[in-house]
Amino acid sequence: MAEDITLYGTLWCSDCKRAKKFFAEQRVPYTFVDVERDAEGLRFVEQVNGGKHIIPTIVFGDGSTLVEPSNAELAAKLGLQTTGTRRFYDLIVVGSGPAGLTAALYAAREGIETLVIERAGVGGQAGITERLDNFPGFPEGIAGSEFAERLRQQAERFGVEILSAKEAVGVGVEGSYRSVRTADGEQYRAWAVLLALGSTYRRLGIPGEEDFIGAGVHFCATCDGPFYRGKEVLVIGGGNSAGEEGIFLTKFCPKVTIATRGPDLSASRVVVEKVRSNPRIEVLTGVVPAAFKGSGRLEAVVLMPAGGGEPIELRPAGVFAFIGLSPNTEVVEGFVELDERGFIVTDGVLQTSVPGVFAAGDARGGSTKQAASAAGEGAAAALAIRRYVEPLAGGMPVVRSATTE
Ligand SMILES: Cc1cc2nc3c(=O)[nH]c(=O)nc-3n(C[C@H](O)[C@H](O)[C@H](O)COP(=O)(O)OP(=O)(O)OC[C@H]3O[C@@H](n4cnc5c(N)ncnc54)[C@H](O)[C@@H]3O)c2cc1C
Repeated sequence: MAEDITLYGTLWCSDCKRAKKFFAEQRVPYTFVDVERDAEGLRFVEQVNGGKHIIPTIVFGDGSTLVEPSNAELAAKLGLQTTGTRRFYDLIVVGSGPAGLTAALYAAREGIETLVIERAGVGGQAGITERLDNFPGFPEGIAGSEFAERLRQQAERFGVEILSAKEAVGVGVEGSYRSVRTADGEQYRAWAVLLALGSTYRRLGIPGEEDFIGAGVHFCATCDGPFYRGKEVLVIGGGNSAGEEGIFLTKFCPKVTIATRGPDLSASRVVVEKVRSNPRIEVLTGVVPAAFKGSGRLEAVVLMPAGGGEPIELRPAGVFAFIGLSPNTEVVEGFVELDERGFIVTDGVLQTSVPGVFAAGDARGGSTKQAASAAGEGAAAALAIRRYVEPLAGGMPVVRSATTE
């Protein structure tokens, strides 16, 4: 890995936001220099680019520089594997959260040649969680990033190939094979596919949100909270995520306001008690976010009282929105059956409406949205997949009897 990364850019430049998002997803630390506020940084950018202001300009620990790099160039620079060593595997797992990686390591351990395709960083939501306190076997809890790294190592020990920064954009059926197409135009085939797509933070959908994402509006306290050291922030939401992330933010911020539309927080009793007893947190109930305002960077948040009345304007340094999760199932819309909320419908052995295509974890209808249950579903799916694949491949280990191209 290229350590000590410095990203020279501005708060409004979209390629800078993309590069920052990429580093955050890969959990790679970097220093951001806003060249609109840092004259020396601006001079450096001009010097690197022959007098021109081209951003982002990114300098790596080995002294090398990338100017306006694509995500593929960034992935290559970080030494990430983005292409499979073959085009045919026994099993392709889409998604590398606890469900996907558990299924992969179970399958690979039984001789099923497994490819994992991950569009962001390895570990899924668990990887960006500050701390997992309730995963069995870790009595002191475990940092999400460490948990993800352990899962990755365990899967790789059994020979799983993991591609990251690689998005699956289509899943299909080709006779006995199932195929997965990726955004960069590659296609991989296997006897079976496991959809371990997880879910994503829901957006607020209010004016200004898109403009200020990464410039005052955030969805991941672990990734962006440290940028607000010593500053006041607003958390939007009333559930467990809002409560836990609000508590986490008090590590950096002297004051955290949690704004929720309901008459009280809807988080679990344990989380509510922790929030209420934290002197750095204030809870504002019965308010609905209406707009983000600012120029270039977030300056104010407009909240409307849920019962009507005058708008309230707050001026936090940053806003963190935690208002629920949507399943990442766009890639299989119209291919497998989804329920009315977009979650994947499965049968008793976690098979979807398409034979040979299985689903596990948070993206599955009826799942419990917990890391341990996602891992459990991954294990159960791997066993069902083994039973499905074995007769097709004529016994284990299976990939050696399959077509390679
Ligand atoms: C803030 C927060 C705190 C949490 N705290 C806890 C906790 O304390 N205890 C607990 O048990 N659970 C906790 N959870 C929930 C837990 O993290 C999830 O239940 C678990 O990660 C779900 O696992 P999963 O494998 O189903 O999906 P995910 O972890 O969401 O992983 C899915 C992966 O699929 C990838 N993906 C999606 N679409 C594509 C595509 N088209 N192509 C390629 N890759 C794709 C995603 O990038 C993602 O990495 C927390 C979650 C959050 C957000």
